[in-house]
Amino acid sequence: MAKTKSAQFLNKFGQKAKLAGARLTDKHINLAVTGLSQSGKTAFISSLMNQLLEVNESAQLPFFSTHREGRIIGVKRSTQMDITTSRFAYEDAIEGLSKQPAQWPQSTTGISQVRLLIRYKKKSGLAKWLSEDGCLTLDITDYPGEWLLDLPLLEMDFAQWCEHCAKEMRDVQRADLSAPVRKQIDNLKLNALGDERHLQEIAENYAAYLTQCQVAGFQLLQPGRFLLPGELLGAPVLHFFPVSQSQLNMQNIDLSKLKKGSNIALLAERFEHYKQHVVRPFYQQHFKRFDRQIILVDCLGALNRGYHSYHDLQKALNWLMGSFAYGSSNMLKRLFKPKIDKLIFAASKADHITSDQQTNLVKLLDSMLRDARKQLQFDGVVTESTLIAAIKASKNGVVQQDGQDISVVQGLTEDGQSLTLFPGEVPTQCPQPEFWQHQKFEFPRFAAPRLKEGDAINHIRMDQVIDFMLADKLQ
Ligand code: GDP
Repeated sequence: MAKTKSAQFLNKFGQKAKLAGARLTDKHINLAVTGLSQSGKTAFISSLMNQLLEVNESAQLPFFSTHREGRIIGVKRSTQMDITTSRFAYEDAIEGLSKQPAQWPQSTTGISQVRLLIRYKKKSGLAKWLSEDGCLTLDITDYPGEWLLDLPLLEMDFAQWCEHCAKEMRDVQRADLSAPVRKQIDNLKLNALGDERHLQEIAENYAAYLTQCQVAGFQLLQPGRFLLPGELLGAPVLHFFPVSQSQLNMQNIDLSKLKKGSNIALLAERFEHYKQHVVRPFYQQHFKRFDRQIILVDCLGALNRGYHSYHDLQKALNWLMGSFAYGSSNMLKRLFKPKIDKLIFAASKADHITSDQQTNLVKLLDSMLRDARKQLQFDGVVTESTLIAAIKASKNGVVQQDGQDISVVQGLTEDGQSLTLFPGEVPTQCPQPEFWQHQKFEFPRFAAPRLKEGDAINHIRMDQVIDFMLADKLQ
């Protein structure tokens, strides 16, 4: 009898310990996904969710170790962490891909979130003794990389920002695009009583100029919210623009003594407001929480568009990485020391190249990031470069030409024509500008592949990314 009682006690104690242990060992990852517009963020998150939700069904994830070991019990979606942030539109993405013809998911325009719960069997050690199963809460946040490009604004005042923009606007490659808005800005009477409507009109033209630069392939464009305003569309906080030093001189304006209520005072106030109430809160409310980050880079798109685009993308990535290399700035450290421990860079849309070119693509990405990476290593962040096709839209094949086998990529164009191409060799470093004069890169947009019911999204290397991001928390 005494034996039974003590057995019951031990059993109860064991169950309680396991319950408490489960609470203690339940884990959490705040994974952020970013990249500049069209880099493939929405496609990536849609595929990531699909692979995880289908992990024990139709997903092909041989390099995801926890899955390979048969330890994933199940994955489900749960209510997201912050219900004031938009919900990532996963269902819409799957619905679009399932249509005939299939549609690519709607691209990122602001911040959105989703939460997945991953139940798994523990591997070994104390954690296994404390409880059999574990639960990893995975919060995924999607946000535009353009917003990170605003970080350096926090360390600039209005005068410095104007000087920086004036240089960019007069750059040979952008001078023509900026000419109309520069003319409008130069005609503005800076000391006249503030005219909100007029300022709005010029600010909208300034935003339109930035969009034209983006279409022309430029990537380092500020302020980020002018391109992707999110919920700030139409708000006066975005109604400012830079003025030139010559204009300030001609109108006898001293930026340290502004006439209250004047046009120039409004511009300077809005610039400050933007920094304090738009840029800073993003870092404090969101960025600070992230502990893992994936940055998607459309290297192939930049090669398509030419040297200026490639070069600008490299510059933009270096600015963007300043957000992670917080060790370099005391101000940033004080404000929002991020706790990111793993950072992965992925060259996206790798289904545009033949598989023998994959190593070159990763080398190209590495060469883009070389300088900025040194700083990250100093900060102790584990970084990794890879390539992915989140939604694989092509097949590799072989064709014969002059008796030789040539590797090709086969897919459908957006108007449904079948396309076979040898997209050429991917350079391992940025080619010289002259290269583009003789030769062009051609990585065309493929039609979205149709997702059949019961299938998981076809991909390249999503399993390796999942393993790098999650496996150490699923032990
Ligand atoms: P976002 O602006 O970063 O959210 O970019 P999206 O995820 O919306 O991707 C932009 C476009 O890139 C898509 O509409 C597709 O045309 C293309 N794309 C994205 N991912 C892939 C991919 O894995 N393969 C291919 N072939 N195209 C892709």
